[in-house]
Amino acid sequence: MTKKIILANPRGFCAGVDRAIAIVEKALDKYGAPIYVRHEVVHNKYVVDNLKNRGAIFIEEIKDVPENSILIYSAHGVPLSVREESKSKNLKVIFDATCPLVSKVHVEIKNLHRQNYTILMIGHKGHPEVEGTMGQVSGDIYLIETEADIAKLPLARDIAKIAVVTQTTLSVDETKSIVDNLKAAYPNLRLPKTEDICYATQNRQDAVKAMAKICDILIVIGSKNSSNSNRLKELSEHLGVKAYLIDFATEINKDWLNNVNCVGVTAGASAPEVLVEGVIEHLKKYDYNTIDTLTTVKEHMIFALPSELRT
Ligand code: SF4
Repeated sequence: MTKKIILANPRGFCAGVDRAIAIVEKALDKYGAPIYVRHEVVHNKYVVDNLKNRGAIFIEEIKDVPENSILIYSAHGVPLSVREESKSKNLKVIFDATCPLVSKVHVEIKNLHRQNYTILMIGHKGHPEVEGTMGQVSGDIYLIETEADIAKLPLARDIAKIAVVTQTTLSVDETKSIVDNLKAAYPNLRLPKTEDICYATQNRQDAVKAMAKICDILIVIGSKNSSNSNRLKELSEHLGVKAYLIDFATEINKDWLNNVNCVGVTAGASAPEVLVEGVIEHLKKYDYNTIDTLTTVKEHMIFALPSELRT
């Protein structure tokens, strides 16, 4: 039987990641190195290492940014406390690479807070996006990681003003299930006007669902700390197709390919296409010479750069 590769489409970079990386690159072009970036601008080792080689310095704490430097916030967003601390320092310029779809959730949560809602956030503890979003407000905000957390909430069932927001890169199906349970627990629960889970997360998960019907295994290109990449791997395995999350083609173990005719390949929203090309070349060594693409939707989203960096 012919061995083949099926490429998911859409896969890889989303509009928010494209924009965030372009902000760092254009800032390096315009101002020269070093450029300071709070947290990995996107969660991908290849991207971060390349930017480090060009002179980007990744830091976690604003205190580590020297006076008069250029600072960029990562695509995941930052809590208000970080913005305040940055403003109190004598920095030359600050660029905000927060994805506009994360910023949309920030606006939403601030509006809810202003209207005295108790806010629930579905997301992963410690993820910078969750810290950034929860850090937009002070007061009554609770993190829900799993359905089990719902029972632990110290809130009355008939609470009048209660609302939920979510991290943008979660499992669409799991989040729906948590929201359904929350609605059952709190009848007055207010949902976001439009989905917080972003188009790129949704589209890449839909593509994996289609791939799982025809592939024997799935290779997901993405870093271990990439939330949306991890969700692609989990989804595939939930659908009964063994999946492997790798940064680079060299991590592919030939034992994974035993009795495998069809290898599905996808990439998380922060993984560049060059890594997909590397995986294809690597698989060709094992006679996977037929390459098909499975397109589930076409993406056209583009986010504008800050005006100072447009050329
Ligand atoms: S995954 Fe979604 S929220 Fe995150 S940067 Fe991409 S478009 Fe924005």
